[in-house]
Amino acid sequence: MIIAVPKETAAGERRVAVVPESCKRLIQAGYEVGIEAGAGAAAFIPDDAYEKVGVTIHKDAAAMLGKADFVLCVNAPAVADVPKMRSGAYLLGSLMPLRKLDAVKALAAHKITAFSTDAIPRTTRAQSMDTLSSMANIAGYRGVLLAAAELPKYFPMLMTAAGMVPPAKVFVIGAAVAGLQAIATARRLGANVFATDVRPEVKEEIESVGAKYVGIELKQDASAGGGYAKELSGEDKARQREMLAEQCAQVDVVISTALIGGVFAPRIITREIVAKMRPGSIIVDLAADGGGNCELSRPGETVVENGVTIMAPLNVPSAMPTHASTLFSRNLTTFLQTFTKDKAFQLDLNDDIQQGALITHEGQVVHARTKDMLAKAGGQ
Ligand code: NAD
Repeated sequence: MIIAVPKETAAGERRVAVVPESCKRLIQAGYEVGIEAGAGAAAFIPDDAYEKVGVTIHKDAAAMLGKADFVLCVNAPAVADVPKMRSGAYLLGSLMPLRKLDAVKALAAHKITAFSTDAIPRTTRAQSMDTLSSMANIAGYRGVLLAAAELPKYFPMLMTAAGMVPPAKVFVIGAAVAGLQAIATARRLGANVFATDVRPEVKEEIESVGAKYVGIELKQDASAGGGYAKELSGEDKARQREMLAEQCAQVDVVISTALIGGVFAPRIITREIVAKMRPGSIIVDLAADGGGNCELSRPGETVVENGVTIMAPLNVPSAMPTHASTLFSRNLTTFLQTFTKDKAFQLDLNDDIQQGALITHEGQVVHARTKDMLAKAGGQ
């Protein structure tokens, strides 16, 4: 089977779907691997590093895609690029189908069997294929570094000849993969860390990485199953707002990572909450790709309101393209290798991982949440 890896076309994207170490594994497993010239350049991986492990470099991306049985990508392809693929080919990447409905429709229409790694079930078996987790981990780490670089204070407590400096106070909102890494990173830098989540079961995890849990007792359970959260009821929202206002007013840095159903960001840091924060404090809104947790966030920009700096970076993992590409590539390669038999990918619609990740197949959108979203958006 022939694998093709195009250069990513999304603005600002610096990752590449596979790195040479993974290509080597795929070639050993029996695949032929081709990559578009320069696809790894923004992640500092030159074409010759791919050539050394037996990858073919293609100058003509359309010709490469037209012959491929399996296309590996980071993001969903641009709608205009979908027809360049061979009808009936497989596609694997982090397609974010709920946010990219046009690409999903184009993939279905062109009869591509598309798998999205962000729809993979969050099970132990699937963990090594889970790009959401590897990328959220990077976002949590990087988000804290952005805050530390911007904060007009030290993070750690310091005893200096000029006297003692107290540690920065950091408040992390949302304590799943990104939030837990943000806590751990802020702790490593010596900050005093507080964290909250609407799923009370994460209290122990928050404490195990060194933060103090701050929570409210919810009137209605906020768990949506599978470890995801659902939107709070009106009454619980109001109670959470009070708690967030109190906490945010006391800290130097807020790192927010809250998502509903893993996709959309609830607007929980209101204008009023920001107004009560100390001048010089920082908000890093890591949920900006999902719309942002802060009412004042402008996704992709940094704004200052009453002396509070609100950063809402987009696609944070792309800012660390070397490790982001390496981990992403290992996730995709593990998916492929897991389902390779006799040197070819085996489609198995009874397998829970393939079933969960499958978005389009035989001309249809088959992923239930994406189908619902399309229906709400006006049909296919
Ligand atoms: P996510 O990005 O969907 O959400 C981030 C966090 O925001 C969640 O903890 C959620 O509860 C929280 N949140 C939502 N609304 C909130 C609000 N109003 N206020 C505060 N917090 C709010 O999470 P994720 O990183 O994709 O992880 C989703 C689940 O999958 C988690 O339970 C995680 O532990 C689990 N997980 C399991 C595995 C595995 O077993 N293989 C791997 C990774 C993640």
